[in-house]
Amino acid sequence: CGVFGVYKDKDAAFLTYYGLHALQHRGQEGAGIVTSDGMHMKIRKRRGLVSEVFHEEHLKDLQGIHAIGHVRYATAGGSELENVQPLYAKLLKDGFAVCHNGQIINAHNLRKKLEAEGSIFQGSSDSEIILHLIQKANGTFLEKIKEAFSQIEGAFAVLVLTKDSLYAIRDAKGLRPLSFASLNEGVCVSSETCAFQVTNADYIDDVAPGEIIGFTPKGMIRTHYTTACDHHMCAMEYVYFSRPDSELDGINVHNARKRSGMIMAKRDKDIQADIVVGVPDSSTSAAIGYAEQSRIPFELGLIKNRYVGRTFIKPTQEQRERGVKMKLSAVRSIVADKNIVLIDDSIVRGTTSKRIIQLLKEAGAHQVHVRIASPPICFPCIYGVDTSSYEELISARMNVDELCAYLGADSLRFLDIHDMKEAFHTEKLCCACFNGAYVTDLYDYQSIIERK
Ligand code: 5GP
Ligand code: SF4
Ligand code: MG
Repeated sequence: CGVFGVYKDKDAAFLTYYGLHALQHRGQEGAGIVTSDGMHMKIRKRRGLVSEVFHEEHLKDLQGIHAIGHVRYATAGGSELENVQPLYAKLLKDGFAVCHNGQIINAHNLRKKLEAEGSIFQGSSDSEIILHLIQKANGTFLEKIKEAFSQIEGAFAVLVLTKDSLYAIRDAKGLRPLSFASLNEGVCVSSETCAFQVTNADYIDDVAPGEIIGFTPKGMIRTHYTTACDHHMCAMEYVYFSRPDSELDGINVHNARKRSGMIMAKRDKDIQADIVVGVPDSSTSAAIGYAEQSRIPFELGLIKNRYVGRTFIKPTQEQRERGVKMKLSAVRSIVADKNIVLIDDSIVRGTTSKRIIQLLKEAGAHQVHVRIASPPICFPCIYGVDTSSYEELISARMNVDELCAYLGADSLRFLDIHDMKEAFHTEKLCCACFNGAYVTDLYDYQSIIERK
């Protein structure tokens, strides 16, 4: 998912629309915006893409100088409308709204406890827990947020809007990204910095792990809800999720990917190939890096139909397979009779790579040497990424040689964890889906992880 918010700007709803549009790659199942004019709050949310959910008249109707918005990618909870965000709740005579990217991993316990105490849940999404915890907590609104988040474990970037304040909160491990920027008289907050360019905002800083930043009538407040902070940005944010023009923890995503391609080329001293082809779009940066380092020309051997959404983000396997076919074509005149280095960012289920190798061979490619710009994904992610069971993960079932044969590739290599950290210029990464080193206690997920 992606979150975006604006504090104190007369065009809050329009700017939030542009921000969410720049974050559309983070989720395509639903979108919503809530605004406040200082007294009253207004909300609109629907299933669908940002441009489908909001037309000009809707944005004009969302009056206010503050806003928060969300693009949804369903993980916990289905894709029903009641799970589309922002979520809104009453608190005494006023209301507040919440947008959440990530996954609460002690949701089961928290929900049971809240229900036992009388809270009534509307949907199945874990994000609703945040609403109830805030409602239940004591003190000023900031104290309520502190109390609520000190009970929540997992991965999250959260925005909370009241009628006159906006709060940005990040999980204690820094798993999900969240940054803020200055905007005329106000500020905006975003999952990714790429959204600051469309809104003409100037990047200020990241929300730190375990931090709450409040934008309030009294000014900006920075405080922590926990001292047990650590920094492990999700490695897959660099590998796949984020847009290449975003900076994650100060590191540009395109450059990080490009360096991963360069390192893979260095490891391939012996390779004989005519062209380097990247799987568009998320592998293009790594393919450029590979080509630059190896001096094998980068070619557009695969073309993407840009009117098809991200294949992975379609919930069923059948939809995903059809998605790959609609989405990619091999360019016969470029690939015929060639030995190809094919760069992809990651292998999850193996559907995409297998199909692409087939496409390239059907178009006359001679050899296809597959290079994956991340390590094999052998463990489920419990932090809000939809790679959630061993059965789905092909690298949990096959070693590299078996997978190479299954894919029909002429050779297959992955980037190793050490090289990935070198490429991304950071050690502060979560690598749990590669090595099983989860960065939190497991809570609800103990049994899923242990099945191995
Ligand atoms: P699969 O191996 O499951 O067919 O697909 C992997 C491809 O899907 C990758 O190349 C990547 O570009 C894309 N993808 C889409 N969503 C995700 C995701 O959540 N995680 C990963 N690792 N890859 C994803
Ligand atoms: Fe990201 Fe993998 Fe960690 Fe999940 S397990 S947060 S996908 S690095
Ligand atoms: Mg891909």
